[in-house]
Amino acid sequence: MSKSFIQTIFRTEVLSRLTYKSTYAHNFIKLDAMENPYTWPKSIKTEWLNSIKNCHINRYPDSEAKQLIAILRKANQIPISSKILLGNGSDEIIQILLMALPNKANVLSPSPGFVMYQHIALSLGLNYQSIPLQNSFELDLQAMLESIKQHQPAIIFLAYPNNPTGNLFNTQAVEQIINATTGLVIIDEAYAPFAQASFISRLPDYRNLLVMRTLSKLGLAGIRLGFIAGNNEVISQLNKIRLPYNISSLTQHTAIFCLEKPDLFKPQIRQICIDRFKVLEQLQKLKGITAFNSAANFILFKTNKNQATEIFEALKARGILIKNVSTAGGLLTDCLRVTIGKAEENKLFIESLAAIIADQKNKPLK
Ligand SMILES: *Cc1c(COP(=O)(O)O)cnc(C)c1O
Repeated sequence: MSKSFIQTIFRTEVLSRLTYKSTYAHNFIKLDAMENPYTWPKSIKTEWLNSIKNCHINRYPDSEAKQLIAILRKANQIPISSKILLGNGSDEIIQILLMALPNKANVLSPSPGFVMYQHIALSLGLNYQSIPLQNSFELDLQAMLESIKQHQPAIIFLAYPNNPTGNLFNTQAVEQIINATTGLVIIDEAYAPFAQASFISRLPDYRNLLVMRTLSKLGLAGIRLGFIAGNNEVISQLNKIRLPYNISSLTQHTAIFCLEKPDLFKPQIRQICIDRFKVLEQLQKLKGITAFNSAANFILFKTNKNQATEIFEALKARGILIKNVSTAGGLLTDCLRVTIGKAEENKLFIESLAAIIADQKNKPLK
């Protein structure tokens, strides 16, 4: 009875989606969600709290967020010819982009990739094509070009660096894709703070190129702020369907406060990058583990056959939460993803992983 009631109300595309699950956990060593593990010096926290007094929370926020956009433009060296749109996280920007497409439009992205592209596209009733990456996690350019020819996607998403593989795609392959399609190409640079590469300076070269970034991985996942930059005409259309007050006063205020202090996150990011190499080295030394290079703040690694879920659960039982991506199959079979945390958290992760692997060896084969 209640089932058919629900079915009469919602689209089949919504009914057939699964709820996106994230773990909101404080009692774990949390290495699952690419968060910056560091907090702020006490003096900065106090300064921030004091400054919030000037926020007029009885009023609506500036719907154009002019001051914030100007600071973001400067901090990210967005060319003056490109316009900027803000989202409540870049997840919301993905939703805005996809909501603006014609019914049944095609959306293309390589796999494995960021799950939100597919999740939102399918929930909106769009068609979604995913093209497997090569074993090296590099783009399969020929297959991408063929799919572009066949399906003429309205939007192509390329995460650069890619999540969950951590690599930067070949620049020329990306350029060929931008040139080959009549649709939009979204370069998702969520991990820009940790990568020495970007397409931002190329924005003026292509009318169909957009670059999206977020403050989440930098150290502000809680305030929910992402942005996308590109062609004025494209951004203007997207702006029509952006909810007018999608960026709260507290978010605008906090982002401005932080971006005016470039030294707030810089040392933290530098430390995370140093520790990324340490964790990679230590993972590579573990028998039965293959760890992949990363230009982001996480590392993907492969376990022995059919061990990933067991290792994930054993880490969890020891209070360490990482991400079990093995269930997605394909290139992610037997793979787990770990976010770089504080030095002591990384150490505990490596030690626990080593102990778990040693334990498994002593157990009879199942
Ligand atoms: C984390 C992530 C995002 C989402 O970031 P929010 O701004 O927090 O919504 C977008 N793209 C990729 C590739 C990510 O990994």
